[in-house]
Amino acid sequence: MDNNAYEAVKLTQELIRIPSHKYVENRESNVAEFIYDYCGKRGLEVEFQEVEGLRRNVIAKLKGNGTGRNLIFNGHTDTVPPYEMTIEPFSGEIKDGYVLGRGANDMKGALACMITAMLNIKNKGKILGGDIIFTAAVGEEEKSDGTEYLVKGGITADGAIVGEPANYGYALGHRGLEWLEIRIEGKAAHGGIPELGINAISKAAKLIQKIEEELIPKLKERQNEWMGPSVMNFGLIKGGTQPSTVADSCIIQIDRRYLPEENVKSVIKEYQDIIDQLMRGDSEFKAEIIRMDSNLMEEFDHAPLIAQPDSKIARTVYKVLKDFNKKEPNIEKRRGWTDAGVLSTYGKIPTVVTGPGDLKYSHAKDEKIPLVDLVNYVEIYTRIAEEFCK
Ligand SMILES: [Zn+2]
Repeated sequence: MDNNAYEAVKLTQELIRIPSHKYVENRESNVAEFIYDYCGKRGLEVEFQEVEGLRRNVIAKLKGNGTGRNLIFNGHTDTVPPYEMTIEPFSGEIKDGYVLGRGANDMKGALACMITAMLNIKNKGKILGGDIIFTAAVGEEEKSDGTEYLVKGGITADGAIVGEPANYGYALGHRGLEWLEIRIEGKAAHGGIPELGINAISKAAKLIQKIEEELIPKLKERQNEWMGPSVMNFGLIKGGTQPSTVADSCIIQIDRRYLPEENVKSVIKEYQDIIDQLMRGDSEFKAEIIRMDSNLMEEFDHAPLIAQPDSKIARTVYKVLKDFNKKEPNIEKRRGWTDAGVLSTYGKIPTVVTGPGDLKYSHAKDEKIPLVDLVNYVEIYTRIAEEFCK
């Protein structure tokens, strides 16, 4: 293993040892400070961008000579909490060829590869035509406020890479994401005289049935080449208080993944139309739709990612991965939402997702990343930057 690339392994371990999930005080602040110092000491131009108090994005630049394209490397500094991990979450230990710990795969490994690739280029004494702009953003696992702030702060480039794990493949698109809660209102009564009440659970059942009969088949017909079908999932239902009381309320929570030709408004309208229809046929049916706060961005939506396959960034990633793998790289078509949706939709920056690791290790009880992926992705990111920014 060459020394330079091994820096990415060490850096991944160090980043894992600084917890940055939502139950840590000031969340990403310690890891952001570490990255700021690490990049600054090694000669990158570095700044903080305040998002919320001590929660800050880090932006580190390797300046080009102004004749080429500028490239953003984007990754997030937060992780999901350890929950019930079966390994020590913050040891950063190396075992059987993997770095272990929360964030190893999602996505402190990628942050380490991006920083190391930039330092690689810098240490070669090579000046590229364009700038490489590394952005370590907060909050992706929650509201994506970090990348929202980057875009609102005016960050821009000719192309961007979001380093979510892609198993040596890449993604040109993914669906938008919206979480909705439907609140169905009933009226409580004693279980012995249920006809005096309105049962919200029964009304919810009617609603679910209608959604399944009328909406889901329509969604299945909507397909996108780069992201698959439009889909929804009933993720949670909760109603009533106890067996002998008529349920006076019931909530249903829905995860909805939508395509570029859809949007939050059209998504909500489809549920609203079904509710309106039920209300017309049943004077006791009452329901409203709420966008769930836990998933709400400040101003933006969790919009889809769509990159043109003939854009320079898409062609560069394709070529580098193909040369590196010595075969056609896989295009991932059904991946989850990422900050690439924000960079591409609101920042208008052509964006592609590719990064070390494999999606199956993200959020896992034994989260880990192969050392070899870290080493290889330093090389892959280096080549992408050299090719794109030249
Ligand atoms: Zn992630």
